[in-house]
Amino acid sequence: MAKRDYYEVLGVAKNASESDIKKAYRKAAMKYHPDKFANSSDAEKKDAEEKFKEINEAYEILSDAQKKAAYDQYGHAAFENGAGGAGGFGGGFGGFSGNAQGFDFEDLGDIFGSFFGGGGRGRSQGPRVKEGEDLRYNLELTLEEIAKGVEKEIKYKREGKCHTCHGSGAEPGHNMKTCPKCNGSGHIRTQQRSIFGVQVVTQECDECHGTGKIPEKACSTCHGTGLEKETVTRKVRIPSGVETGQRLVVRDGGNAGGNNGIFGDLYIFITVKKHDIFRRDGFDIHCEVPVKMTTAILGGEVEVPTLDGKTKIKIPEGTQSGTIFRLRDKGIKQPSSDRRGSEIIQVKVEVPTNLTEKQKDILKEFDDTLGSKNYKEGKSFKDKIKRFFQKFEG
Ligand code: ZN
Repeated sequence: MAKRDYYEVLGVAKNASESDIKKAYRKAAMKYHPDKFANSSDAEKKDAEEKFKEINEAYEILSDAQKKAAYDQYGHAAFENGAGGAGGFGGGFGGFSGNAQGFDFEDLGDIFGSFFGGGGRGRSQGPRVKEGEDLRYNLELTLEEIAKGVEKEIKYKREGKCHTCHGSGAEPGHNMKTCPKCNGSGHIRTQQRSIFGVQVVTQECDECHGTGKIPEKACSTCHGTGLEKETVTRKVRIPSGVETGQRLVVRDGGNAGGNNGIFGDLYIFITVKKHDIFRRDGFDIHCEVPVKMTTAILGGEVEVPTLDGKTKIKIPEGTQSGTIFRLRDKGIKQPSSDRRGSEIIQVKVEVPTNLTEKQKDILKEFDDTLGSKNYKEGKSFKDKIKRFFQKFEG
């Protein structure tokens, strides 16, 4: 099999920056990391292992300025004959496997923050700003949509800012005042007696929820929370080539934090629907097309589907079942360039059924005219079988 273009392997444009290449590599390596295929079938494991190697090989070259320059000029030929070599895959990869969900470290910080009773971002000693929750939105896309990228309108419910008090929680005309319970610090210290002695525990103030301020008079619409349910409609740009399991982040698309807090984020979880005709493989799409037996024998034109509409391909005389035709630039657009993958068509010669007696007679008559020169594959297969059994006959 021909080696794939390294830029294609990582799904980046030729002029991609160092950090884009790194990002693309991390994403791809996480996706095909062997740890994720521990419970998969052997075929899936092998496929993932090959992809993983391919990704690491591509990154080894593209992350090294010198090797990258050589590759840009000479392609794969630059590393043949042992010139550079791409051995020792897997270098520079570590620490991502535990991060398979695609959270970055900032997110992890937030998760730990909430586990340990802290308040997410800005976990300091003073009063803090309330942060709204992140939300999840499941978005199903068709292959046609992700082939070129699409703008989708999504609609969802969230906790927004109260329209009366604009999120402060105070009745219009009234100010916020320092929380009397915590004196504006946002937390309360209590002493707890235990077998280890007296411990001082700092807890978030339950009066002001850590903000240090409460409304002089609570807003009559939201009863002082600053929140109100709302339905949001947003246009989201989906880049081409996204895959099932990927997430897009809409900053501030989540719930509002109460009392002039900040918004959480919205995570769009992508699912790409299975297509009736095409099967996807990276930026390529595969399609099996039935061809009449007579067309395969005599040659002719066959209409085939593409993502851009119907087109015709020439079937040469004597085309065998399983033959592959490649339509360049009919696949999925790469997100950061105008390049598209290919459509790979595999022809399947269809054997006619329900023949009449007359048709059968014609075929028998035709069959009598055929000789070994008409069957190249069969002849070489027969020769192989002969050699195979000769071994036993000694
Ligand atoms: Zn309000």
